[in-house]
Amino acid sequence: MKKSSKTDARRYCANWHAGKCLGAMMYREDGELRFVMDSKKVGKDCVVDEGCEYFDNVVIPGMEDNGR
Ligand code: SF4
Repeated sequence: MKKSSKTDARRYCANWHAGKCLGAMMYREDGELRFVMDSKKVGKDCVVDEGCEYFDNVVIPGMEDNGR
């Protein structure tokens, strides 16, 4: 898993809140944007520098898509 920096999370992740994670994991299903709360992340320190699957699999591809 690629490790990103907290600067990346602060700039690009909608879950970043003053260094803590809001824990809203967004995904698309049947053409609708949905989210579930990840109780392991809610209110905890952002762990992007230790590896965050959500950041790697959702945030980064979303940033790349926006460049099209
Ligand atoms: S832990 Fe992941 S989802 Fe939460 S703020 Fe950090 S990068 Fe975003």
